Amino acid sequence: MARTLERLRCKTILSLLWHLPYSAQKRHFVSSLNQAIPGELITFQAEILQHFPAIERFKTASRRPYRVAVGDHSRFLDLVFFNAIPSYIEKNLPVGETRVISGKFENYQGKFQMTHPDHIGSLETLKDWQGVEPIYALTQGISQKQLRKMILLALEKVQPLPEWISAETLQIHHWRSWHEALRQAHFPSHESESLSSHGDRKRLAFDELFANQLALTIVRRAQTYQNGQQTFPTHVLQQKILDTLPFKLTCDQLNALEEIEQDMKSPHRMVRLLQGDVGSGKTIVAFLSMVKAVEAGFQVALLAPTEILAKQHAQTMMSWAEAAGITLDVLLGKDSVKIKKEKYERLKSGSLQIIVGTHALVQEAVSFHNLGFIVVDEQHRFGVEQRLKLAEKGQHVDVLSMTATPIPRTLMLATYGDLACSYLHEKPAGRQEVQTKAIPLNRVEEIFQGITRVVQKGAKVYWICPLVEESEVLDLAAAEDRFHLLEKKFPGITGLVHGRLKSQEKDKIMEQFKERDLQILVATTVVEVGVHVEDATIMVIEHAERFGLSQLHQLRGRIGRGSQSSSCVLLYQTPLNEIAKARINVLRSTTDGFKIAEEDLRLRGGGDALGLRQSGMPNFYLVDFTIHKDLFLLAQQESDALLAQDPMLASPRGQAARLLLALFGKESAMRFLQAG
Ligand code: ADP
Ligand code: MG
Repeated sequence: MARTLERLRCKTILSLLWHLPYSAQKRHFVSSLNQAIPGELITFQAEILQHFPAIERFKTASRRPYRVAVGDHSRFLDLVFFNAIPSYIEKNLPVGETRVISGKFENYQGKFQMTHPDHIGSLETLKDWQGVEPIYALTQGISQKQLRKMILLALEKVQPLPEWISAETLQIHHWRSWHEALRQAHFPSHESESLSSHGDRKRLAFDELFANQLALTIVRRAQTYQNGQQTFPTHVLQQKILDTLPFKLTCDQLNALEEIEQDMKSPHRMVRLLQGDVGSGKTIVAFLSMVKAVEAGFQVALLAPTEILAKQHAQTMMSWAEAAGITLDVLLGKDSVKIKKEKYERLKSGSLQIIVGTHALVQEAVSFHNLGFIVVDEQHRFGVEQRLKLAEKGQHVDVLSMTATPIPRTLMLATYGDLACSYLHEKPAGRQEVQTKAIPLNRVEEIFQGITRVVQKGAKVYWICPLVEESEVLDLAAAEDRFHLLEKKFPGITGLVHGRLKSQEKDKIMEQFKERDLQILVATTVVEVGVHVEDATIMVIEHAERFGLSQLHQLRGRIGRGSQSSSCVLLYQTPLNEIAKARINVLRSTTDGFKIAEEDLRLRGGGDALGLRQSGMPNFYLVDFTIHKDLFLLAQQESDALLAQDPMLASPRGQAARLLLALFGKESAMRFLQAG
């Protein structure tokens, strides 16, 4: 059964316990058959009266079913078996004997019958076949009965455990002990108890979240509290840059800078995430933070996911750096050996203060004189190791990560625990709103006409085609077809980029679109999040109904960056389903990425497991995202409170919490425990 069970995510006895029923049903005991109601699941005792074996019907393969007449003092009933093995039926239903039988009672064309009973057994089995029973999600190769039996065996191995939840929390929610809640969740006494909103289910979901938050918090604290250093910015260089800026920083930008400075001054290590929509002005915040570290005598590195982004950052920052007399350069994988060597030298001697680069920065050959601060742009594009490797090139390095993908609060908690965050909600002044329209695909001709007009005036156009893994080949073909069509209409100024291209080719085409004569860029979703093409004013998203909400928002963020007004056209295939309609409506009504991220999560609910996985959400067993939403924050608070009281998890409750971590496979976090 191992492989079958694995499909249900039940590899271990513990994970069998986590496989909770999705529903429950009631089996009624009827002492006489004339009390049975058609459609109900019933259990009854009856005498076996007569067998009517299946007969071959003419020459066709179809058979009449095998019927067995049974009855009690009040009524007769036929048990019906299709494709049955006669010897099996004869053996289990001997004429003249009494059996306990359970199944769905039906009235079929005026006759009472039961097709394929769930159970036929001796009189002792009567007690096992009445009352409320759980219904589990199954997979091919296993029946309810088999799975129930296994889960029951697993439950027998479970002993009561000491309590890890605080008495207060238990009391407020009227939760039972873990052991009782687990049993009750598998064997509810009412149908409604199998719902995720039921108390026992909530307690179990809370346990899983508590384990998650506890583990995350322990690891996070070990990361930040160790190896701290204090950095004291002088603000001298920062002021020079502020003096040359053509704009004033927004309140959010100033707040973020203040939060970052507080982290620097504290004796702990800084690990902070800067979140802000595309265009919200993260770059200047990152740069001024880097300058603070330079003021305190440190070298700084900025890690960007692609060459084009690295170059763009370097370009932007160079002019600011010059104003303050800071040395800055960019390091790319494609730099020649000679150039690289020269840059390595300057980093090692300390004459280069800021280096911007791709993963080339992580290479072994790169070493610093005094690296004290790193910024990671689009942090989700890097693995933990890459970030660590770079940080290890210095001592006590502070880390600022940035992301243009706003993360809803609950997701944030579940994936990063109590990670410190700064937010840029406000958009800098003077930003043009993007007009968003939704148009059915069959009116695509109108779009071509519109594009012809704007292209003549020199505008640049993104044309986005969907690409999903499952239908990659077809999607790619569709994107290529679209490219050929547009290329015919707009020869010489149309380009195509997609994920199959080598990154250098991609960069080259992006470059042509950004700097040179390409005006129409057909792209699958690979267009880089942070790339500025100031004069791109139109974005057409084909099959918008196939994109997630946040994804659409990200894409749209690539236009409207200059001073001209911009528009985004969502081309959709009719008919639209309700969710797709809702998505498009949200997109038309707001451009606030944080709002959109929350809505996205709400619309997906717990249903779109894939979407959640892509967003980095841990794969929970017991947590139903939509229903247990409120428990995330509660679990974080519980975990903070416990660690404040008992940082080494040494008290009786702390010991219980260690068990909890082990239950959910998070015992590895325990080696990070440290005195508070
Ligand atoms: P992102 O958050 O996407 O990285 P950027 O940092 O690239 O955004 O900023 C987008 C544009 O807004 C840049 O041209 C930048 O110079 C400009 N900008 C940043 N802050 C402000 C501000 N406070 N007022 C006006 N413009 C600003
Ligand atoms: Mg950016």
